[in-house]
Amino acid sequence: MPQNQPKPRIKPTLPVYRMGDQIYIQLSGKCVELADPDGAVEQFVGLLDGTRTVPEVHRALRAAGRDVTPAEVEAGVARFDRAGLLEDGAVEPGLDAHDQERWKRNLGFLENYSDLSTSKYELQRKLRDYRVVLLGLGGVGSHLLFDLVGLGVRDIRIVDFDTVELSNLNRQILYREADLGRAKIEVAAERILAYDPLVKLDTRATYIGCADEALAVVEGRELVLSAVDMPKMQVVNWINQACVKAGATLITGGVDSRRIAYYTMIPGVTGCVECWKADVAEHDRLSADLAVKKTEWADATAEPRFPEDMSAFGALVTLYTAHVLAEVVRLATGIAPPLSQGRLLEVYFDDGVPREAERWSRRPDCPVCARPRAARTAA
Ligand SMILES: [Zn+2]
Repeated sequence: MPQNQPKPRIKPTLPVYRMGDQIYIQLSGKCVELADPDGAVEQFVGLLDGTRTVPEVHRALRAAGRDVTPAEVEAGVARFDRAGLLEDGAVEPGLDAHDQERWKRNLGFLENYSDLSTSKYELQRKLRDYRVVLLGLGGVGSHLLFDLVGLGVRDIRIVDFDTVELSNLNRQILYREADLGRAKIEVAAERILAYDPLVKLDTRATYIGCADEALAVVEGRELVLSAVDMPKMQVVNWINQACVKAGATLITGGVDSRRIAYYTMIPGVTGCVECWKADVAEHDRLSADLAVKKTEWADATAEPRFPEDMSAFGALVTLYTAHVLAEVVRLATGIAPPLSQGRLLEVYFDDGVPREAERWSRRPDCPVCARPRAARTAA
């Protein structure tokens, strides 16, 4: 008999109830209802405890006097699997006891997306091994970093050049009053390694001042989470170019006064930031003109921030973090495509409803992303 035959188990997070002649299995706001006048379904469900292969389940039913064929049992298991009720009890977790306990509640969530061929442990391992770089350790960076580590991402590079200021402390939860004046990257490393000493944390105390410096911090990473906004109007271009060159996915955006907005750029799949700007120049004259004005203002003034950046409200920072974190999980595990792929999603504080603000495609004439990475390297 092959060693790798699955041993189906009803997912431990799914409650099973009998009421009258019916069996009910609850899963995330839904309920599977099965007629069971003679108790056969209940018996079948009871045998799906992760200790038996499908032929063994069949043999146990036969031994209990049930007149079923192997094909019927197989079809029943397949039907349960399609309904999202089963996981494989024979699967090796590939996580030690410590990590299984630390991520127990994550595994309960990931169980929703597992089945007989994909295990929740495999999804958690994908998160653990995802190579992420977080640019900027302000409000968004603080929340993202803690939450990434909580998710179980263990391979993280952090990049920041700033020091802790009193006005940071309405939202930048990595820091305390005793940290005022200290380098954020140093404090962040202390806090994060205390939170999870097993994180492989690569710290870069650097300001991104040109495209090459952006490439240096992005290289070798699968995902770039950018929460930097300086130098104004330029840094996003450098990071975009670096991500396209390095073949890294970029999620960026931020908190903009009364709303959050974010997008995901996947090199070779979605349009890049340069594609987006070209699209805006063709279809939205006002926004394009305003961008030129902003660039002139940024060039002419020593002000590090735009007037609208003076607003940074905790409820929006955590809302943004929640949206981006969900995209990280989708990208790392592949359980679903990212919602903001190739489009800008926004949520206003006022009504809390996510909306598509803009959408753009890859442009064949884009100076940044028109050629795939392989062709660029060969050129
Ligand atoms: Zn492009």
